[in-house]
Amino acid sequence: MFALGPGSSCDVCLKEYGFDRLPQSIQCGHIMCNACCASIIGTTSPHTSPSCPFCRLRFPRDSVRTIVINNEVRRLEDQVAKVAQKKCSIEEVSKLHTAITDCLISAGDHQPASLSLSAALLRAVLVNQMAHSEARKAHESIITQLQSRIAEAEQDSSNLEAEVGRWVSLIMSVQASFLNT
Ligand SMILES: [Zn+2]
Ligand SMILES: [Zn+2]
Repeated sequence: MFALGPGSSCDVCLKEYGFDRLPQSIQCGHIMCNACCASIIGTTSPHTSPSCPFCRLRFPRDSVRTIVINNEVRRLEDQVAKVAQKKCSIEEVSKLHTAITDCLISAGDHQPASLSLSAALLRAVLVNQMAHSEARKAHESIITQLQSRIAEAEQDSSNLEAEVGRWVSLIMSVQASFLNT
């Protein structure tokens, strides 16, 4: 795989390569960013082949290959390792999964095998986390139901106590009036 150092930039537009500006190689072996490549292809008459801005060699449109940036792959894999080590939120995992999927899509035929594996791993982690959170939600609703039932029972028992208290004082006053007569 072609290795680009940190801060490598496109020799046509001089903008730095990154996730949204991927390097592409053409048949002659020259490299430029996907935006420049697309604009060269776009401004070339459909009846002729576009030509390389560096050596002027014509290249077939379907010979353009996207080069996956090693740094990006390594960075993503570091993040995958972190997700595997510590507990991450579903949002963090799904964000990383999206980033890797995007990278794999833009890599086309040059998908790094390790990254495909990482994507599969993250998908498994996600499914697992979803199941966990569903189970937790179910638990939480059972706990809330039980708590409200306990509160109801407590209310009932204090109502009962008050009722008993009223009866006791009634009986006592009846007894007192008997004693007085
Ligand atoms: Zn460019
Ligand atoms: Zn060239």
